[in-house]
Amino acid sequence: MAGTTLRVVWTPGTDDLLGICHCGAEYLAGDPIDVWSWLLAHPDGHEAAR
Ligand SMILES: [Zn+2]
Repeated sequence: MAGTTLRVVWTPGTDDLLGICHCGAEYLAGDPIDVWSWLLAHPDGHEAAR
């Protein structure tokens, strides 16, 4: 999937995970399932919202 970059990085010193969308949007949550759910659902609004 070229052009689609979703990253999840752990934030040292905390229990939180930071999800980063290819558009630059970020989402911080303590539950990796929550982060991935947001990342996978988030792109739905990219084209429609603009
Ligand atoms: Zn995005």
